[in-house]
Amino acid sequence: MLMFNNLIDGEWLSDGARSPNVNPSDTKDIVGEAVRGTRAQADAAVAAAKAAFPSWSRSTPQVRYDILKKASDEILARKDELGRLLSREEGKTLPEGVGEAARAGQIFAFFAGECLRMAGEKLASVRPGIDIEVTREAVGVVGLITPWNFPIAIPAWKIAPALAYGNTVVIKPADLVPGSTWALVDILHRAGLPKGVLNLVIGRGSEVGAALLEHPDVAAISFTGSVATGQKVAAACIASRPMKKFQLEMGGKNPLVVLDDADLKVAVEAAVNSAFFSTGQRCTAASRLIVTKGIHDRFVAALTERLGGLTIDDAVKAGTDIGPVVDQSQLDQDMKYVAIGKDEGAKLAFGGELLKRDAPGFYLQPALFTEVTNTMRIAREEIFGPVAAVIRVNDYAEALATANDTEFGLSAGICTTSLKYASDFKRNSEAGMVMVNLPIAGVDYHVPFGGRKGSSFGPREQGRYAAEFYTVVKTAYTLP
Ligand code: NAD
Repeated sequence: MLMFNNLIDGEWLSDGARSPNVNPSDTKDIVGEAVRGTRAQADAAVAAAKAAFPSWSRSTPQVRYDILKKASDEILARKDELGRLLSREEGKTLPEGVGEAARAGQIFAFFAGECLRMAGEKLASVRPGIDIEVTREAVGVVGLITPWNFPIAIPAWKIAPALAYGNTVVIKPADLVPGSTWALVDILHRAGLPKGVLNLVIGRGSEVGAALLEHPDVAAISFTGSVATGQKVAAACIASRPMKKFQLEMGGKNPLVVLDDADLKVAVEAAVNSAFFSTGQRCTAASRLIVTKGIHDRFVAALTERLGGLTIDDAVKAGTDIGPVVDQSQLDQDMKYVAIGKDEGAKLAFGGELLKRDAPGFYLQPALFTEVTNTMRIAREEIFGPVAAVIRVNDYAEALATANDTEFGLSAGICTTSLKYASDFKRNSEAGMVMVNLPIAGVDYHVPFGGRKGSSFGPREQGRYAAEFYTVVKTAYTLP
């Protein structure tokens, strides 16, 4: 049995209450046991991070490079094992789990390189004889609060830049899936991080998360999760004395537009991948398929046939296309929205049934609604499961207007062979990330990630843009 303990000031702590980490593919399988951290432990972790900050923020880029690169090498060497742990605890398929673990390794390699590339600017003053330097410095102790759906990639894309730019960290992963983050922190700890530079406190959001938000020595919070929690995080960061810098990545209701001139195969694959892979549990999932009337019936027929051929089963079984929903409460939410869609008058064209498999798990047949209007709740509210809505529109102009008619703005896509419409969509989509003839859920790690409107707040994550959040700018004037 794996024990997911807390790392505070370089020591693994196992004391306190424990919770089982249950495999959603087989609820009889207990992946491990996690400690339930307390407010006092969160405070101790912040104190350790504060004590470690002066030395770590002044460490040489070579010291930071070596540790991050060593961690990257171990993650990549162990990606199959880490991916299996991830798939067991979260329920995404083994190829998806291994892919996510590899992604974490690539992110650490990228930010290892960034340690050596931090640069400033030197400018002439408008006043004679004065030099100006603009430099970036670490922010301080950074609190990281992460969701359950990417339990190694999201911690990686927050921890790696935080450490690369010289910050010290307290991370609180989602208590539902603590194993992958624990494994990542273990690798970084053994890669040679000085004590206190990276602290892990597994526990409840209302206790450990809230403690980080309230602590005066936490200078910045990077949060990924739901809009409701994000708003609490923002309010707490503003109320805090001193105020904290904060960054929020939240939900989506992402549109994939399919135009009459689309390559049908490309459109169906983009829809299946974006709406249903990873069990639809991605912030970037396409939950609204906005289809022009000339291709609508062919698209729905081809998509329904493709869905009928998918295997929904144990996440780690060879041949599984879609694993289970993460837990009972998310399954209840998905089923609630299937019922809401029916009540609203949408047509359930495929799926939406609970499935029985060899082991007891949270298996749901992907659900496809047609005859949906963009005012229905299933087209407006984030469901966060394998439930997608097809909205029929007359033409490109209506498709674009419908795509943008949402409080969210994370990712959006269009399938078309027209350069004119593709260019127009890239220009006029109100989303942070736009894809043409591609699934809208997959992204690269060396370029900015983030959304607009109700999906995100603050600087972008990932790639070189991460420096905006994890550093503060200093402007220095010198009269030599
Ligand atoms: P959630 O908001 O319930 O929890 C996110 C984290 O916040 C968890 O670690 C949780 O313990 C913590 N938390 C909860 N209450 C808190 C409080 N009062 N104070 C401090 N911390 C608290 O989200 P979730 O269910 O884990 O994840 C699903 C959500 O995450 C979806 O809305 C999804 O769209 C979003 N998400 C967004 C992105 C993105 O990059 N935009 C990526 C992945 C997931």
